[in-house]
Amino acid sequence: MIRLRGVSRCFTLGDTRVMGLDRVDLDVAAGEYLAVMGPSGSGKSTLLNILGLLDVPDAGEYWLGGEATATLDEERRAELRSRQIGFVFQSYHLIPRLTALENIELPMLLAGFEPAERRRRSVHLVERLGLGDRIGHRPAELSGGQRQRVAIARAMVMRPALLLADEPTGNLDSRSGAEVVALLEELNGEGLTLLVVTHDAALGARAARRLEMLDGRILADTRQEPARACG
Ligand code: ADP
Ligand code: MG
Repeated sequence: MIRLRGVSRCFTLGDTRVMGLDRVDLDVAAGEYLAVMGPSGSGKSTLLNILGLLDVPDAGEYWLGGEATATLDEERRAELRSRQIGFVFQSYHLIPRLTALENIELPMLLAGFEPAERRRRSVHLVERLGLGDRIGHRPAELSGGQRQRVAIARAMVMRPALLLADEPTGNLDSRSGAEVVALLEELNGEGLTLLVVTHDAALGARAARRLEMLDGRILADTRQEPARACG
């Protein structure tokens, strides 16, 4: 589903140049679950942004679902992003003045779906994610764990093939974090391709495959037996 070859992304800050990504090669098959680890500044978010078509490599090639992305115009990139890719961020990125339900529906609204279909899909997700009594609340009235579940519902409402999560548990206490991880893993179990950036070694150990990044490069790409919770 994902193929990167020689992908680099260079940032210029004043007169210093930083390699956010440095000639990265990566293949990910549909349905895989990867943890992306590495110290701050190692290029994890840059990698996710490029995979999510939010950012463009300066060099190298990226194929998504067999389609070469380098030559796409912005309209086609936006279309692919909307249809194929969901994002979850550490700080939720919900719209404060919209209710939970309205936040979840927003991608479908932007994609031009009918109100009835929007409502049907988002209510289904709300129930599935255990947010039933919170749909009319605004983000400020929700706990961190509830906000992240709303963000996951919003990421899933367009039924993407790929979910990219950048430190999704970074702002959560361990219990809400565990719930969010369980939810992401459940979605992966249904066939969603899942990449999770994390600092948390225990979370990283749960994925079937672990990438370790340093200085914009993938230092290690390890397939592992997923760790299971006790009991
Ligand atoms: P991580 O997510 O692993 O903490 P990032 O991918 O955010 O790392 O950053 C990788 C490197 O690229 C860092 O040195 C960072 O400072 C630099 N970088 C990332 N984004 C930008 C940007 N928009 N402008 C300038 N430098 C950036
Ligand atoms: Mg980051």
